Amino acid sequence: MNVVLATSNKGKVREIVELLHDRQVHPYTDLIEGFEIVEDGSTFQENALIKARAVYAALGDENAVVIADDSGISVDALGGEPGIYSARYGGADATDKDNLNKVVEGLKAKRVESSKAYYTAAIAVVSREGERCVHGWMYGTAITSPRGENGFGYDPIFVPEGFEQTLGELGDDVKKGLSHRSKALALAKILIDQIKVLRLDPKNTEH
Ligand code: IMP
Repeated sequence: MNVVLATSNKGKVREIVELLHDRQVHPYTDLIEGFEIVEDGSTFQENALIKARAVYAALGDENAVVIADDSGISVDALGGEPGIYSARYGGADATDKDNLNKVVEGLKAKRVESSKAYYTAAIAVVSREGERCVHGWMYGTAITSPRGENGFGYDPIFVPEGFEQTLGELGDDVKKGLSHRSKALALAKILIDQIKVLRLDPKNTEH
């Protein structure tokens, strides 16, 4: 079964391919040319579904199972920002560093050194069997002094609950056991397995 990943974000591709190591997963840009997807939903779930639907339609392969991740960080002291705007918090062409700096500056403007924060991941699964979406969360603290080079995005300023180091310091192996994306993917795997089982039944393969 062809599981296709509707993202070209290198950090996400690396983590998702590793987390789904027991299955064949291809970033969609290995199969067709990358294209811009307007993420104009108002929730992580809506945006994940928008991405997965767009790639499923563009592939034109009725056997494909497309998964899309929409994710971000919500910082309490910033009223929940950046949330669904995490990828472009520092502006349309912002780098990960620009986005992280904007959170740091926002916290400093509020005269705080840290704030409760959490990551959310919504993972949509779109196939000819239908559309589903699952979620995962990771709670912790956002700090104003970035530390560590691992991970991506906001990881150098995120200290997960129960730890003193940032995800940038802890690295991928520790992050794998805790992350919003790991939790959502564990549920997405169940959905993918259900599709597999449905397709074993000849009544469901007469497409
Ligand atoms: P999306 O591609 O529109 O879902 O944007 C996701 C953005 O949220 C990324 O560009 C990162 O800025 C941030 N983000 C999501 N998950 C993580 C993570 O695991 N670590 C760090 N930043 C993340």
